[in-house]
Amino acid sequence: MNNYDVIVIGGGPSGLMAAVAAAEHGAAVLLIDKGTKLGRKLGISGGGRCNVTNNKELSELISYIPGNGRFLHSAFGHFNNRDIIAFFEDLGIALKEEDNGRMFPVSDKASSVVSALVGKVRSLGVEVMTDSPVAEVIYDSGAVRGVKLQSGRTVNAGAVIIATGGKSVPQTGSTGDGYPWAEAAGHTITELYPTEVPIVSGERWIHSGELQGLSLRDVTLTVWNAKGKKVIAHRGDMIFTHFGLSGPIALRCSQFLRQVQRQTGKNAVELSIDLFPDEHLQELERRLQDKLEQEPKKAIRNSLKGLVPERLIPLILDKAGLDGDLTFHHLPKTGLQALAALLKRLPVLAHGTRSLAEAFVTGGGVHLKEIHPGTMGSKLMDGLYFCGEILDIHGYTGGYNITAAFSTGYTAGKHAAEKIQ
Ligand SMILES: Cc1cc2nc3c(=O)[nH]c(=O)nc-3n(C[C@H](O)[C@H](O)[C@H](O)COP(=O)(O)OP(=O)(O)OC[C@H]3O[C@@H](n4cnc5c(N)ncnc54)[C@H](O)[C@@H]3O)c2cc1C
Repeated sequence: MNNYDVIVIGGGPSGLMAAVAAAEHGAAVLLIDKGTKLGRKLGISGGGRCNVTNNKELSELISYIPGNGRFLHSAFGHFNNRDIIAFFEDLGIALKEEDNGRMFPVSDKASSVVSALVGKVRSLGVEVMTDSPVAEVIYDSGAVRGVKLQSGRTVNAGAVIIATGGKSVPQTGSTGDGYPWAEAAGHTITELYPTEVPIVSGERWIHSGELQGLSLRDVTLTVWNAKGKKVIAHRGDMIFTHFGLSGPIALRCSQFLRQVQRQTGKNAVELSIDLFPDEHLQELERRLQDKLEQEPKKAIRNSLKGLVPERLIPLILDKAGLDGDLTFHHLPKTGLQALAALLKRLPVLAHGTRSLAEAFVTGGGVHLKEIHPGTMGSKLMDGLYFCGEILDIHGYTGGYNITAAFSTGYTAGKHAAEKIQ
């Protein structure tokens, strides 16, 4: 005899939405979380303002989920970004659109989103157990039977949804507990790695701290492979830190750096910064020449101010092998060309990323070949479902991961409930 139709393990965005969908589809649902509060990671997302989703067109949305976004086609058919927006507006959480389609609550408070979602879960009669770590999922004869809590208590159910998240920022409860339960059901876990994570560089000029805190706006960061071919380029903002590069475009490039490392088996990966992405090299060279020509008696280190961020000038001059006290009159043509070339392609040797614990998102997870895309059900264990970051799906920051969590959560909850009836 089952205690519940559906047990959801994990009260992050995917688990909360799974509980909502399962209850809305008539199931008796138990939601279990090991923390004392639900939605802890959701509560710190988007800088504490909760970037609930992104308003881009669906086809575009998928392209911002480089980690297997195409797997989400069916799930988006059940519940997509427009449904997420309608869902929260129905709950009285007005949303606003910011740059690049990012949707935030008008209140700018993640707590308002979390409490609306938790309120919805409770209003649907879902039973909620917090402070109750699950120790294992119980399987028997190819089917799920329920869960065993760390306290030793067993709870039966016809379907179990594993929504325990990845391994990033473990203090929010995402400690990777779900992976061994998936493996026990026969699932493969693809390699786990940090994504949307700051980049580490061993360059001396990074570690000297001379550029620490310098932000570059609207530049392009490119990752190159060992053959000198462009792997990916992202345009936007970045910042130099005491260990390497951070900021939106560095986070986006981080997973591709990892990819090159895997291919080459070497730590060092070449990146470059284009400080003038709208100008061709020749145009920039002409503009540089015009600028320096206007002040022929001035030291070039001073003439470059206004064109190049001041703190970058010594590095650029050093890399070009030029003495900053030179005046335009004494600057050889090759020197001018070298300066322009560096402004278009300032090389930064990267040596890795910060750890998985420090990453915004976990790359890798439950292998998608073993999951039905239309239901999020396991192909290997009857009654077992997965949703959220535990799956081998990851997007860029900007609301895409939370969108994937809500969408897969809704899909898993709906189908788990339908299966039981
Ligand atoms: C600082 C930060 C900012 C972010 N900002 C963004 C952003 O702007 N946009 C975006 O799209 N994404 C963002 N993300 C990523 C996004 O928050 C996650 O992808 C999303 O929360 C994943 O949801 P989830 O439900 O799969 O897992 P989680 O949110 O990780 O939830 C998992 C839940 O499972 C529970 N659990 C784990 N093990 C057990 C167990 N043994 N028993 C019971 N319960 C258990 C945990 O307590 C937790 O509540 C950010 C992440 C971080 C860390």
